[in-house]
Amino acid sequence: MSSKGNATASGLTSGSNSTMAGAKMNGTSHGGHPVSVSAIRNKTYPTEFWYCVLVLLAIICLGRVAGFIGSWRRRRHAQALKTRDVENRGTVARRSGWTRLPTAAVNAWRVVAFRSEIAFGPYYSINLAEGFITLAYLAALFTWSLINTTINGQMQYGGRTGAIAAAQLPLIVALGMRNNIIGWITGIGYEKLNYMHRTTARALLVLVWFHAGTWIKIGLEGPNAVTEPQIQWALTATIALTLVCIVFVRPVRHRAYEVFIISHFLLVFFFILGAYMHASDHKLGRYVWPTWLLWGFDRIVRAGRILAFNHGYLMPGGGVACNATVERVADGFIRLRFHRPAHLHWLPGQSAHLTMPAVSKFPFESHPFTIANADVPAPPAPTMEKMKIENSMESTSSSSSSTMTVSTGESSDKELIFIIKKQQGFTRHLDQIAKQGGKLKILFDGPYGHPPRLVHYDTVVFLAYGSGVSFTNSLFVDLVYRARADPTICRSIIFVWTIRHADQVNLIYSDLLQVLETAPPALHISVRIHVTATATLSLSTSEPWSPTSPMSMTSPISPVFGEKKSGAYDNLSALSKTTWHNGRPSVETVLHEAMDGAQGSVAVNVCGPHTVAKDVKRVLRSHGPSSVLRGGPSVSLFVDSFSF
Ligand SMILES: Cc1cc2nc3c(=O)[nH]c(=O)nc-3n(C[C@H](O)[C@H](O)[C@H](O)COP(=O)(O)OP(=O)(O)OC[C@H]3O[C@@H](n4cnc5c(N)ncnc54)[C@H](O)[C@@H]3O)c2cc1C
Repeated sequence: MSSKGNATASGLTSGSNSTMAGAKMNGTSHGGHPVSVSAIRNKTYPTEFWYCVLVLLAIICLGRVAGFIGSWRRRRHAQALKTRDVENRGTVARRSGWTRLPTAAVNAWRVVAFRSEIAFGPYYSINLAEGFITLAYLAALFTWSLINTTINGQMQYGGRTGAIAAAQLPLIVALGMRNNIIGWITGIGYEKLNYMHRTTARALLVLVWFHAGTWIKIGLEGPNAVTEPQIQWALTATIALTLVCIVFVRPVRHRAYEVFIISHFLLVFFFILGAYMHASDHKLGRYVWPTWLLWGFDRIVRAGRILAFNHGYLMPGGGVACNATVERVADGFIRLRFHRPAHLHWLPGQSAHLTMPAVSKFPFESHPFTIANADVPAPPAPTMEKMKIENSMESTSSSSSSTMTVSTGESSDKELIFIIKKQQGFTRHLDQIAKQGGKLKILFDGPYGHPPRLVHYDTVVFLAYGSGVSFTNSLFVDLVYRARADPTICRSIIFVWTIRHADQVNLIYSDLLQVLETAPPALHISVRIHVTATATLSLSTSEPWSPTSPMSMTSPISPVFGEKKSGAYDNLSALSKTTWHNGRPSVETVLHEAMDGAQGSVAVNVCGPHTVAKDVKRVLRSHGPSSVLRGGPSVSLFVDSFSF
């Protein structure tokens, strides 16, 4: 293959600034100059690429609308069924047979696209949908780059690859924004779209090197000499993009996230600047400048959110009331609580970026955390007896407070709560501050993300590990609140939470207490808390047990827990509908129990280590379309991994 023939590294240039040696002319003219067929293709193919992207987005959007309609119909059906017979839940027979074909097809699609994985080592994998989109994207890029480039028996793709590469920039930038237009259209959270942001950027790198290699092969001389500014800008852009894509791979991001963020900002700035200067020399600047707009739009919306929800700091008195209370709830776990105006609304499971100047190394450093409480009014107060126990816990640990939204009493502000696990950087410093307790200035930027809506499911399973309970707790509290208001919402909830030490139950103790106390009687709730550190809780020797057998509440509490929290035993036993277990849960048992007992669709919500999500997917893969055809439930899976 050769691309000899074009005299400049041009995408669209024709006439006076291109010799177009050997290029076919189609007889049309542009500004008085004849335009070559290849120049026209270099202009139309990037546009065709964008049509393709827009069609894909439209299909995903239609799928989303169909999903909404399906959920709405299921809710209506469930309402009709349950209002007739809400007292006699458990008597409804599950349909089977060919009427289930559409549901079976949807489940088959979920199994293949989202629950089948391609593993890259033990800790990283992508699902088949991501793998397929990656390959399809690469195929599309190279097809549009190479097709119809043969002129006089020679392939001339130097200009085309440049044009197709330039056209990728708005897409890549749009995929990486926090205020993400593609996310709003598709309903996919910005943290999940980040995979496509990285993938498209890496594909662009391949294309850019292909483009550069082509011109290097032809020879960097004349208008393409390295002394020419447009080539120097091209080199700047190529080096910057290469560094962003090659240096900041996952392990580096993991070890030095802030270094990555700052370097990413600077390198991308030089990449876009270089790309713009080079591309505008070839009349392709129109693909590059929209990236500044997208970036600016994101920053303006962020600034707007920050102003709208933190304006208390601008008030006389410096907004002391906006400061966050920081406390250590259990070893390695911090809880942040602060108030924000009543006009702030969030969905359960959404996250926010928090900036704490007193904690961070860099002034604009922000960290994402999931809002652990639901945006719902506090439920009716628990019984006096329970309140007494709760108060005793408050006094012993000073760490148990409800994560439900409450009013301050003085104003209609809402309380936001975050549960944070100590890591090695920012959170480690925060933990040191939390040890002493106190107040911190905090900037809230959010809410972000597209969490699942659970009201139309018959059975909902929550599987959380450690701080992953931020995600499941808010969804759980919200769901029970809605079920209290409308008895036709949800029939059964299984809430499984795995913690290392029993004292970590403090993270959401009050919520559990309140939710379990005030849950509607017709809603079946089973809370299972698994404690993995063997020394923390132990069974009496007379009692038979397995790693997952329920733990008797008459079991002795180990010194680890007993010493730390006097009265803790009472607190644990105060939680109704709750069983305690030693060791990790059997994901398979929990999921089969949920699916076997379901009378409608099932939602499984997971927030925990990668291996758990993998395990859940493995179990759900075996529950394929044939199970649905036999009358089994349709199962949706939502995974939050607390990572990009
Ligand atoms: C959408 C989302 C929601 C999250 N919700 C919670 C939550 O509710 N509770 C909780 O404990 N953790 C949550 N996390 C994880 C939390 O953001 C990180 O643990 C925290 O930022 C680590 O800070 P560090 O400096 O102490 O980390 P380090 O010890 O420096 O690094 C630990 C890990 O955190 C990653 N990390 C570091 N800084 C950031 C950052 N600014 N943005 C994204 N990742 C970063 C690193 O890449 C590394 O993988 C969430 C993450 C995401 C993406």
